Amino acid sequence: MGRKLGWHCDDCEIGEVFHLGYAANALNPPAFVEEAVRGEHGTLLKVLMGEDSPVKVDVRMRGAHFMCPYCQRIYSGRVAYVQDDSGAIFRHTIAPDRCPHCNTVVDNEASGVRVRSKGIQRYVDKIWADGCPRCGGEVERIDMDWS
Ligand SMILES: [Zn+2]
Ligand SMILES: [Zn+2]
Repeated sequence: MGRKLGWHCDDCEIGEVFHLGYAANALNPPAFVEEAVRGEHGTLLKVLMGEDSPVKVDVRMRGAHFMCPYCQRIYSGRVAYVQDDSGAIFRHTIAPDRCPHCNTVVDNEASGVRVRSKGIQRYVDKIWADGCPRCGGEVERIDMDWS
């Protein structure tokens, strides 16, 4: 259940689609576990996700969106919620180190960068009103429910 919101410019053949209300939680996705065990997500996750870890943890992965503080464009990433048997949770963000739109180095863990549905709505509303970010032409609106 959710909503797809986005835009498309037929002239430039560019556009973006965002899935709002994307609630699918992947539990312990194997690709993530393998990356963590290899140490790609830091020392703490490498230890916790390893076979000899004294603590059993579960990871739930969700899609997330981030707004670049430099160009104000939105890009996608993921957030892993790591939880032990007491329910304690910490959050690990997985997103590009550089904004895919303007190539500036961004700190994804910094507060205020993550955007939720309302922020995406405002962002898409602005592109619908202003036109294509590249050519300024009218864009096709994408707004549909999906399940
Ligand atoms: Zn940017
Ligand atoms: Zn265009």
